[in-house]
Amino acid sequence: MFLKKSPWIIHYDGSSCNGCDIEVLACLTPLFDVERFGIINTGNPKHADIFLITGSVNEQNKEIIQNIYCQMPDPKVVVAIGICACSGGIFAECYNVLGGVAKVIPVDVFVPGCAARPESIIDGVVKGLAVLEEKGKKFKNMKKGLATLSIDPAQIQDSAEILALQKAAYQSEAELYNDFSLSPLNQSLEEIKADFKSKIFLKAVLNKVIVGSVRAYQEKETCHIGRLIVHPLYQNWGIGTKLLYAIEARFPNAVRYESFTGHKSKRTLYFGRKRGYRECRREKVSLKRERVFFEKTREGKAR
Ligand code: SF4
Repeated sequence: MFLKKSPWIIHYDGSSCNGCDIEVLACLTPLFDVERFGIINTGNPKHADIFLITGSVNEQNKEIIQNIYCQMPDPKVVVAIGICACSGGIFAECYNVLGGVAKVIPVDVFVPGCAARPESIIDGVVKGLAVLEEKGKKFKNMKKGLATLSIDPAQIQDSAEILALQKAAYQSEAELYNDFSLSPLNQSLEEIKADFKSKIFLKAVLNKVIVGSVRAYQEKETCHIGRLIVHPLYQNWGIGTKLLYAIEARFPNAVRYESFTGHKSKRTLYFGRKRGYRECRREKVSLKRERVFFEKTREGKAR
């Protein structure tokens, strides 16, 4: 296989005995020396193509794993190394263990073994390279298709499609809090239709399908932006950014823009920060959840 780019890996050791962890280190050190294939170990998720995980997932590390995964640019590949990362292994029955890595993020390659041998880890990484190549091709084709993306005002007739999209987009949020009573997941068609009377809705349309949406209304000097959603298949394609800027532009008289998310939704918080929003207050919604409000002034500066 020929790859134009050297694949960079990032390694995270979850709840393990450190056996597989040490085998991964053996791959990087002179005896197995994966660097000779151009494979480099990085500590920065933003530079990584392949996410190697050893050990099982527990309540404490699941957010760290999701956080690293979300920060990696697409296309990316996840390799679960050792039986603990594949299924929870001998730790599966522990009180706080959720199981294998696939419980919290999508896994592309499973490398079983206890401990997984360096040869099989290298084999798993090579399989990961093939997946990476395949994803890279799909990514390029999808990017070409994005040229036809349009952001338009949504109409009440779009309610059912936007509601279905909203429910798909909020699944990951519900899983994050283990709370499927979130209001976006339980909104009815009548409620969303009623929202059209008080809010402006925008839709992102790709090949005649709505793949993103956002809604907002203005109260005094503040534009309240809500439910910025993008279909899970099209996330990290810049569609959310386009929707955000388009909805801001619809409220030229607003002095400030405000939105909110849950306290665990690090990805949304990061998205907001990158676009000039800053946290301004927090509100307790339930025992499990806090609402984090973030704001931006018209000049793009936090007050
Ligand atoms: S698979 Fe075996 S060696 Fe690897 S972390 Fe689990 S218990 Fe340790």
